[in-house]
Amino acid sequence: MEIALIPALADNYIFLLYEPEQKIAAVVDPAQAEPVLEKLHELGLNLVAIFNTHHHGDHIGGNTKLKKLFPNLVVYAGAKEEGRIPNQSVYLEDGDLIRFCDVVAQVMFLPGHTRSHIAYYFPPEKPQQPGNLFCGDVLFAGGCGRIFEGTAAQMFESLDRLRHLPGDTKIWCAHEYTLKNLHFALTIEPGNLHLQNRLKLEEIKRMQDQPTIPSVLELELQTNPFLRWDQPTVQHVAGSDVPVKVLAKIRAMKDSF
Ligand code: ZN
Ligand code: FE
Repeated sequence: MEIALIPALADNYIFLLYEPEQKIAAVVDPAQAEPVLEKLHELGLNLVAIFNTHHHGDHIGGNTKLKKLFPNLVVYAGAKEEGRIPNQSVYLEDGDLIRFCDVVAQVMFLPGHTRSHIAYYFPPEKPQQPGNLFCGDVLFAGGCGRIFEGTAAQMFESLDRLRHLPGDTKIWCAHEYTLKNLHFALTIEPGNLHLQNRLKLEEIKRMQDQPTIPSVLELELQTNPFLRWDQPTVQHVAGSDVPVKVLAKIRAMKDSF
């Protein structure tokens, strides 16, 4: 499976998953139809599926138009969306498996940002290769999604599950928020050398107009304060050593950053 990253709207990323030989593609969170159509045309691909992570407009904006142009395409989203995903045809539960060409994705139910958010995890196709996680607005590079519909406890549990994926897993999140996130992270852990180094590297990428996505889980574990509730420095800033309280506090601080 190949992955193409397509920038959309102000700071969204759409991901096109495809098999070059079979000329078949699926798209994760089409914020808009047009950039997806351009990429499909450029690569000569037929679109067979949409994988939506959640119902927000910047993740489903292209659904209706794509479904019109590709009437046979299957629209996957979480079981709890209850009508919020245009053209949804499959309602996914935690642990469900989706076959796309020769690969299988595992569905992870990760509430917190919304009550029905899911992620798609593709385990390594071969040993030594990294898996790929498409996590929408749950985990970002250097940050995490706002808690809109869920609770801090749900967000905590969702992030904790992601923490336990293999360290080399590629993190394909839906927004280019990385520099802002890292600037906030430095206010929490100013002495974190991994974080200082990362900010320099990510700044260079952005200056060259390159995406900072995908990230890698290992790097997130070293630098993302929303995965570091067990670190004394982070606990000190949050004023608690109870993991869920640490996460809730850091998230509240970010909301007003
Ligand atoms: Zn969202
Ligand atoms: Fe979003």
